[in-house]
Amino acid sequence: MAKQKIKVICDHCKGNGYLRESNGSYTEVHQCPTCNSQGEVVAELYEQLINDGVVNKDATVKQLKDLLVEVEKAQLQ
Ligand SMILES: [Zn+2]
Repeated sequence: MAKQKIKVICDHCKGNGYLRESNGSYTEVHQCPTCNSQGEVVAELYEQLINDGVVNKDATVKQLKDLLVEVEKAQLQ
């Protein structure tokens, strides 16, 4: 199956590109290491999943990871 690269909202920072860490009296802001502060990450997916509408471009990283696990399981059977 052909793979296609799509951009998805970063699940780690919810698309903000940075993380706020409350530290008692002040809040630290960190760059998101998952997406390099881009707010989105590039994911490689099987084209068929996109064509079938199983995946849409608003999917979160977690949803994609769950989906890829399912795909791998299916291939093992
Ligand atoms: Zn991020």
